[in-house]
Amino acid sequence: MKIAEIFYSIQGEGSLAGVPSVFIRTSGCNLRCRWCDTPYTSWNPEGREMSIAEIAESARSFGANHAVVTGGEPMLFEETVELTRALDMHITIETAGTVYRSLKCDLMSMSPKLANSTPEGAFQAQHERLRFQPEVLKKLMRQYDYQLKFVVSAPDDLDEITRILDEISAERSRVLLMPEGSDAETIRSRAQWIADICKREGFRYSPRLHIDLWGNRRGV
Ligand code: SF4
Repeated sequence: MKIAEIFYSIQGEGSLAGVPSVFIRTSGCNLRCRWCDTPYTSWNPEGREMSIAEIAESARSFGANHAVVTGGEPMLFEETVELTRALDMHITIETAGTVYRSLKCDLMSMSPKLANSTPEGAFQAQHERLRFQPEVLKKLMRQYDYQLKFVVSAPDDLDEITRILDEISAERSRVLLMPEGSDAETIRSRAQWIADICKREGFRYSPRLHIDLWGNRRGV
């Protein structure tokens, strides 16, 4: 399968933020978020074909206890099922939750994309049609331990988040709000009002530690 990068770092987001983890980044995505922070897996997918054995061996070489299978959209690919079976570690799958697969997964980290992600131009219609798949989200929630991460760029994003949570009947304690932004200054500028929403609504605030620590760079 096509892999954009494999690297060892600290999980920057969500309930496992701070945990040393090996990241396996598949290449290719069915969405085209306008603020995508990994355009080399979506708008211009890069990488090289690797066998499952090669990917697993590379992941194991770091000696980590946690693996994060991310993208792009890792659930697009049938090979991801076999890949998760080959990894003898705690596995987080990072997905937008638009495609269902049955695989080995300890934490299904779903990040449904809000209207703030929709680009203008050729991909607008496809993105808008695919970005919210309530039946897929509900099926993933039933099958896996899960978290729901929303990328937030304005206070009124809360209206859409509330509608989504009502539609999929998600537990609020599993919801994390994360500032949209690819630099520490933008993230800081949004942190305060997002934290206030979390306090009021019973959500969790998610940092983006990797950006605080290393900036918006590949492989960190
Ligand atoms: S779903 Fe993720 S990888 Fe795909 S375009 Fe959106 S942010 Fe980028």
